[in-house]
Amino acid sequence: MKKVLIIGGGFAGLSAAVFLAKENFKVTLIEASPNLGGRARSFYSHSIGENVDNGQHILMGCYSSTLKFLKTINALNNFERFKNLEVPFIEKGGRQTFLKVRSFFYPLNLVAALSRFNAVPIRKRIKLFIPFFSLLSPNESSAPNLSSWLISLKQDSELQKAFWNVLSVGAMNTTPEFSDVKVFKNVLSQMFLRGNKGFNFILPKKGLTEAYVLPARDFIISRGGKILLSERVLSVEKTGQKIAKVITNKAEYSDFNFVVSSIPFPYANKIFGTEFYPGLADNFHYSPILNLHVKLKSNPLTCKFAALIDSKIHWVFNHGNYITLVTSAAENLISKSKEELKEILLEELQNYIPLFYKELVEGMEIIKEKRATFVPSANLERLRKKIQSPFENLILSGDWTYAGLPATIESAVLSGIRSAETILTRKS
Ligand SMILES: Cc1cc2nc3c(=O)[nH]c(=O)nc-3n(C[C@H](O)[C@H](O)[C@H](O)COP(=O)(O)OP(=O)(O)OC[C@H]3O[C@@H](n4cnc5c(N)ncnc54)[C@H](O)[C@@H]3O)c2cc1C
Repeated sequence: MKKVLIIGGGFAGLSAAVFLAKENFKVTLIEASPNLGGRARSFYSHSIGENVDNGQHILMGCYSSTLKFLKTINALNNFERFKNLEVPFIEKGGRQTFLKVRSFFYPLNLVAALSRFNAVPIRKRIKLFIPFFSLLSPNESSAPNLSSWLISLKQDSELQKAFWNVLSVGAMNTTPEFSDVKVFKNVLSQMFLRGNKGFNFILPKKGLTEAYVLPARDFIISRGGKILLSERVLSVEKTGQKIAKVITNKAEYSDFNFVVSSIPFPYANKIFGTEFYPGLADNFHYSPILNLHVKLKSNPLTCKFAALIDSKIHWVFNHGNYITLVTSAAENLISKSKEELKEILLEELQNYIPLFYKELVEGMEIIKEKRATFVPSANLERLRKKIQSPFENLILSGDWTYAGLPATIESAVLSGIRSAETILTRKS
């Protein structure tokens, strides 16, 4: 039986381990923290009185690798798919406009939805189609970033604020000035050019740990795999072009055929050596995400989620007893104290949801994820395409290794599944 050592227990490491264990490989997964899940996990919050996520995560219908992973570990039922896209966009003052896509006559249903999108004045609405049509053209854009691309396609600041920023800041976790055009076009194509299912929202029905981490853990263990927690890989020793030994803070491992690295770039860079990634370290920049979970005495929200236009809060999610306010690309807020942030975000919420007032709040949990995702800039994208494993028996995975997509669950799982497939095709 072939043995594989997997480093890192986020979506990438867990999916690699699941698909290798399914093919009868003997897997050992080493995770530095006491819990699995990496950047997508949940924990018990005393302020909220239940399990909450380290950040609200949205899956999309186009996440085909993730859905395959969830099906394999029998966890699809832990997620709810919203079949008809119906997103309330809320303006300051509380006016709501729906982006509502009916389920029939694709792609005419998309055209109809954009034509009815009242957040943009009717005379400008027709212009929203231009970037979508450009997806069908084989010509590559020469625009240096997403902002210039949108301007070149006649998307003025009103169109950007009311529509494109909601999509792009959410998907790329950075402002359009720093986003690569090709990556964003790829995201748009996957969401909107794959029929009605691509743009379905899929949300966990329970905390992420319960929803996918525990089912993945149980699957791996039931197939004879081992999971080692609170154990950090510190370095490797090599013989020729192969890793001969993996050294952790607790033990040394040399009995393996392959190693899968499923850790973020800065850790991989430290452990496997910088010379294999020329220029990469200088171009890896990170962008934070803020989440404020707010427990309420009574909940004024009637929708499951909503996008806020031109706000410090980008999305609001409704969990019944509590709501979650999400700020992506939160560079301007992240250094403020937790108390300051609670004040700022609640005041902002009041501006958008007039029925909300601070006296409704029973408890709050704020989570600052300072290095939530890397910034998918044009420079980084050029270098990501060239990433190669520095050792013959080492396969690299993790959201950063899969060029063409931003840092998402889907890029992490895709990379995990690809590493399992790579090992399956190799002899030793
Ligand atoms: C707040 C927030 C909101 C997000 N929202 C969304 C969303 O809505 N939709 C979406 O698709 N994506 C979202 N993302 C991005 C998504 O969570 C990540 O892209 C994905 O989880 C990355 O998975 P990964 O396995 O590549 O890395 P990670 O989850 O970072 O896993 C790496 C693991 O390796 C471990 N590790 C590191 N070093 C070592 C070592 N030396 N030895 C052993 N173990 C080590 C870490 O502890 C960690 O558990 C969000 C991220 C955050 C933070």
